[in-house]
Amino acid sequence: MRTTRSPHAPAAAAGPELSRRTFIAGVAAGAGALAIAGRSTGVRAASEPLEVRSMVPPRLEAANLGERILCHRPMRRGSPNLTVEEVGGQVIAHDYGHGGSGWTLGPGCATYVVENALAMPAAAALAKDAPVIVVGAGVIGLLTAYELVRRGYTAVEIIAEAFTGTTSHNAAGLLAPVSMDNDPESQALIDQIGVEAYRFFASIAAGTHPDFATGASIVPSYFETREESGLEPYVGIVMEPAKDVILDFGNGTQRTMVVYDDGIFMDTAVLMDELTAWLTPHVTFTQGKVEAFADLPAQLIFDCTGLGAAELDDDASVVSVQGHLVMLRDQVPADVNTQILIYLPEGTTAEGMKAKRSFYLMPKRLSGSGPNDVGTVGGTFIEGATPETPNESEFDLLIDQAKVFYGI
Ligand SMILES: Cc1cc2nc3c(=O)[nH]c(=O)nc-3n(C[C@H](O)[C@H](O)[C@H](O)COP(=O)(O)OP(=O)(O)OC[C@H]3O[C@@H](n4cnc5c(N)ncnc54)[C@H](O)[C@@H]3O)c2cc1C
Repeated sequence: MRTTRSPHAPAAAAGPELSRRTFIAGVAAGAGALAIAGRSTGVRAASEPLEVRSMVPPRLEAANLGERILCHRPMRRGSPNLTVEEVGGQVIAHDYGHGGSGWTLGPGCATYVVENALAMPAAAALAKDAPVIVVGAGVIGLLTAYELVRRGYTAVEIIAEAFTGTTSHNAAGLLAPVSMDNDPESQALIDQIGVEAYRFFASIAAGTHPDFATGASIVPSYFETREESGLEPYVGIVMEPAKDVILDFGNGTQRTMVVYDDGIFMDTAVLMDELTAWLTPHVTFTQGKVEAFADLPAQLIFDCTGLGAAELDDDASVVSVQGHLVMLRDQVPADVNTQILIYLPEGTTAEGMKAKRSFYLMPKRLSGSGPNDVGTVGGTFIEGATPETPNESEFDLLIDQAKVFYGI
């Protein structure tokens, strides 16, 4: 017998009703709006002069360019799979397919899926020391294990093919629900989950989180329009309204942007280390590939396998969306302590693949990097590309686009 809880029937109260479809669709919509060599299209208040903010561009000379990172977003068409089912006596809770927003939604999704799983009679009947298996050790798997341990489960095992170098370690770190694919009917739930995640990371940034001291900070976050940020549903609940400002790069180039001064940056590699350190005394880590849930010796299983779900769940709606990042080095950290995201026109890569393109800058660090080796420039969205089709020339293009943005 197979029973299913759908993400469209949330256990908790739903957030504001919206029929917006940001995400990949938003990328496409934004593409036409770009004139990277010209002015941007931020909405300005009628009469008052806009605040002008000085911003020093990052150093983008060859000596300032570090590691090139190629990674792949696990996007599921329609919406992430947040359902719970009972199959052959096992409760299997799915939490995969978050596209470019796995960090933004991670804490809220973990809470939502764990609550729905534990509401299933077969799971509710389990003792707290019964084995519980989490498959996958990206941000979704680690946050799910964290949620289970916090609820008193003492025999949690995380099984994963990879514990390092996952997409979750590489993600840029902007808290914003962009670059995923959502049916309009799942939007209210996604907004509610995002608000919860904002609260989670904001408490780390404020130093009030009980378990995590570093890895998230409040950083001004700039976009061309409010709609493109995906953050408007959070305004009035957890965020202040955006402002229209002019960025002045001190070299004759100015751009009109909107800024959320209470935007959140998640330092993803740092947070993966923090989560792993917190979990280490509480859970068992086992390296290996899971071929079938039925092989696992547990009645309660969490499926946090990202792109692996395409094979493990035979889910044809899971697609890889390739992204490119160039890490920066030898920077003035204060100059890159900002987040910027603008969408660029779509194009075709040198290898012939259709590419949605953007320029973004975030103050990301890699584990163990020096104090001035901070900042990353991204971001491509190439659907269907894999490590076998790396679209290498996009790395150089990212830096060229960044220079045009700053007027360098
Ligand atoms: C370039 C880029 C920039 C990004 N920037 C942001 C951002 O700024 N903000 C944001 O919110 N998100 C961002 N993302 C998206 C975010 O990184 C992902 O949504 C998120 O990391 C997905 O996490 P996950 O745990 O589902 O998957 P993953 O991190 O891919 O982890 C999957 C885990 O499952 C394991 N696994 C898979 N199959 C099996 C199996 N059969 N058996 C055992 N183990 C298995 C893997 O080994 C791994 O441990 C970005 C992504 C990219 C590529």
